[in-house]
This record gives sequence, C-alpha cells and structure tokens, in this order.
Amino acid sequence: MEILKTVEEIQTYAKKQKAQGKTIALVPTMGAIHEGHLALNHEARKKADILITSIFVNPTQFGENEDFASYPRTFEEDRKKLQKENVDAIYLPTPKEMYPEGFGTYVSPSPLVAEKLCGLTRPIHFRGVATVVLKLFNLTRADYSFFGQKDAQQVAVLRRMILDLNVNTKLFMVPIVREKDGLAKSSRNLYLNKEERQAALILSQSLFAVEKSYQRGEHDVRKLVDILQKKIKEEKLATLEYAEIFTFPDLLPLTKVEEVALVALAVHIGKTRLIDNIILGGKKACYAIC
Ligand code: AMP
Repeated sequence: MEILKTVEEIQTYAKKQKAQGKTIALVPTMGAIHEGHLALNHEARKKADILITSIFVNPTQFGENEDFASYPRTFEEDRKKLQKENVDAIYLPTPKEMYPEGFGTYVSPSPLVAEKLCGLTRPIHFRGVATVVLKLFNLTRADYSFFGQKDAQQVAVLRRMILDLNVNTKLFMVPIVREKDGLAKSSRNLYLNKEERQAALILSQSLFAVEKSYQRGEHDVRKLVDILQKKIKEEKLATLEYAEIFTFPDLLPLTKVEEVALVALAVHIGKTRLIDNIILGGKKACYAIC
C-alpha cells in the first residue's frame, strides 16, 4: 500500500494507473477510521481496479468554534485498518499541500441542497466539503467515489455538484453502519463519556420509531417529525438542533411521504454534536446516486 503525500505524487500515481487502463475508486475520509469507513472501502474495493482512500481533516469545512484542532488523528491505526481492506494507496496531504499560499477558489454549492439542515448552523461547511472533494476528484481521477448515508446531506450536495459541473465520477452511497445498540458509528463518538454515550442512543431510537410509524401507514410529515421531537425531549442530556424530513436526494420540502424521503436529525449530547438519519422508501444497499 502506497502512502502519497503531495499533489505531484497523487497525480503521477493516478496518471500511471489510467495509462494502464485501470479504473480508480476513491473513498474520501477525515481518518479515525472505523467500520463505517471500512464499509465504504469494502464496496469501493469491489468496484474498481485501484482503490485510493484519502485521509484529510479539511480545515475549510470547519467553522471557527468547531472541532478542527481536537478532531482525532490516528494515522498509524488507520493505516493498518486500510491495509486489511486491500487499499492500494492512501492520499495523506497536509493542509498546506491542499491550500497553498494564494489559494482562493471555492465551489459554491447549490443553496437548494446546502442551505438547510446542517447548512443552517454550519454556513461554510458544504462550501469546504464541495471544494475539497472536487479537488480530490481532480487529483485522483476517480471513476467511482463512495460516500456514506451517515452524511446524507453531503451526498445530496456532492451529487448536485457532480451533475451541475459535469464531474466525471459516479457517486455511490453506502448505508449507515451502526453499533449493536443502534448508535451510528462516528469518529465523534470518541468525544462521549459513558453517560453521554448512553444518552446518544436517543437519535437512532427516535428515528427507528419514525420508521415503524411510517411502516404502519403514517405518512404525514408533521406527525412523523412530532415523534422525533417528543422522543428527543425525553432525554435530559439531549438538545435538538433540527428534526426534519425532505425528499431525497433533492432535499425538497414535503407534507406527505409519498416518495423517497430523508428523515434527518442533529442533536447535541452535552458538548458533542451528533447527526443521524434514515431514508424512507429507499434502497437499503450501496447504490449509484449519479
Ligand atoms: P468522515 O471521516 O467522518 O468525513 O467520513 C468519511 C466518509 O465515511 C463519509 O462519506 C461518511 O459519510 C462516511 N461514514 C462515516 N460514518 C459512517 C457510518 N457510520 N456508516 C457509513 N458511512 C459512514
């Protein structure tokens, strides 16, 4: 497995693979690799000749008071886990390599998908995500790219970017990997103490309650959102940021769930902000979204 650190190294590597007629899959991550990331790598490994995983804690997607500095960085363990998934190359740039002196061009994501849900409290987040992911697409020349449903709005934003800017990659979305008790795996779960870890179960539990109600025939968005709000309120350590339902992947408002819909939550447990979601009426496996 190669560890590539510079723009020149990754470009040369991708060029060489392409010259040999090989297809390339990319899995972008911020590291602190867990089973959610590994599921993406597993799907990507099946799809292409060459699998590149990037590890980059991207400064441009963090707001001023967010956790950029404290975000877990665990490269040695990450390397071992990715080696086991038969990753061909890790792209591990520094912030300076990605944003050298004079950097000034950003992708402005479609407000229709970016200015809602997480976009309301993290106004620069998706601009940073779209910018870095477009750079990664360019650098790796990925034919296929893999993203998690865990960040469903990110998938919606990147899909729009790929379609709007004619980016030559096929985006696959991989279902959420959960702990046995339902908590969605996340690098940020490391921030939770024991009591908070227990309280964090309220996210998946309330989403599963919505799923059950939907399956029993409740399709009214207000009533489904009501279930989420009531459940979250019951947990003392939880503060709700948003509980909303939109069509997926266009993220349009709706009053009745009659097509594929994203039920999305952001909840603060103590000082830790967690997100989770379910998709109603959608596929439960990895699939190409554009
Ligand atoms: P991150 O390192 O948190 O930026 O995540 C990198 C990629 O892994 C993103 O596409 C995430 O959506 C995906 N991911 C993170 N957690 C999970 C999970 N529990 N299940 C599936 N995918 C995930």
